Amino acid sequence: MNTLKLMDGLNRHIDYLRLSVTDRCDFRCVYCMAPEMKFLPKHQLLSSEEIIRVVRLFVEMGIKKVRLTGGEPLIRQGVVKLCRQIAVLPGLNELTMTTNGSHLALWANELAGGGVKRINISLDSLCQNTFKVMTRVGNLQSVLAGINAARQAGFASIKLNSVILKGINDHEVLSLVDFAVDHGIDISFIEEMPIGRVGRSRQEDYYSSDEVFQQIIQRYRLIETVEQTGGPAKYLRILDYPLTRIGLISPHSHNFCSSCNRVRVTADGRLLLCLGHENSLDLCNLLRDSSVTDSQIQDAIRVALWRKPEKHELYTYDEEFRPVRFMSAVGG
Ligand code: SAM
Ligand code: SF4
Repeated sequence: MNTLKLMDGLNRHIDYLRLSVTDRCDFRCVYCMAPEMKFLPKHQLLSSEEIIRVVRLFVEMGIKKVRLTGGEPLIRQGVVKLCRQIAVLPGLNELTMTTNGSHLALWANELAGGGVKRINISLDSLCQNTFKVMTRVGNLQSVLAGINAARQAGFASIKLNSVILKGINDHEVLSLVDFAVDHGIDISFIEEMPIGRVGRSRQEDYYSSDEVFQQIIQRYRLIETVEQTGGPAKYLRILDYPLTRIGLISPHSHNFCSSCNRVRVTADGRLLLCLGHENSLDLCNLLRDSSVTDSQIQDAIRVALWRKPEKHELYTYDEEFRPVRFMSAVGG
């Protein structure tokens, strides 16, 4: 077993892996996907066995937290079994998932029982019409049912994720905070990132975390904290409402790359070193080559990590230089 800490070339300690289990999704969120999408053929997706092997190799190298994401992870067949198998890997502290919530009413109990400790649920609007505009096809009621099921299921924590777009759902910031407070759960507001060509201008509807903050302090008294959950969010507590924390994820206005502790594996098995760059290591080829051993794959991962970019630069590149892959393929 490898015992060295997993470090990148800039001395950042990498202990968090996000893995996309599928690039497919039952929603078509306007900031994430184009109206017409082509998805990977099934044989290009990592199999369950390949996913478990790759996660085990990372955990052996010191990864402590794994988040399963997508696409929509809950539409991958067998995902609950996959969770159970990953959750028991020796050395892993925490298995988490990010979901759009549409199938959560069905699976919440099994996920919580299967070792998923914390769950993030995307919720951009509480108005059916706006929800439809944001997701193009989503049904708000099924997501609300999913949130309720998650609350009953006993996860250690539940967090809502809301991407705020100017002129589309920025008027809902306070209602979303009210909802989180009423349900005693956390909420993070995420600035839109220009990842993938989604067929609309990102500049026009950019809405900053600072604007979100200004809205929230009209109603709530916020207390700054230094709390971290292993991610880039800045957390605020709300006076009188101890069960809800507010996260502000500001890739645009407050670059957080210097403390980046994560890498991603795409649904087709590419180790992506940074959300904002294309450089990657093709793990799928290594996993499918029977002559390649576990320790050779781990060595290749260590070497690749030395190429992890210093920062994402998503907002300094021209559109034509930005990553063309979609967020759904990367695993947000
Ligand atoms: N389908 C699941 C969901 O929506 O929660 C998991 C995958 S989704 C790609 C993960 C997270 O990325 C979601 O919270 C979503 O809102 C966020 N996201 C997607 N595209 C984004 C973008 N262009 N900028 C910022 N966040 C984005
Ligand atoms: Fe699907 Fe999540 Fe992307 Fe929305 S953000 S299209 S739910 S993968």
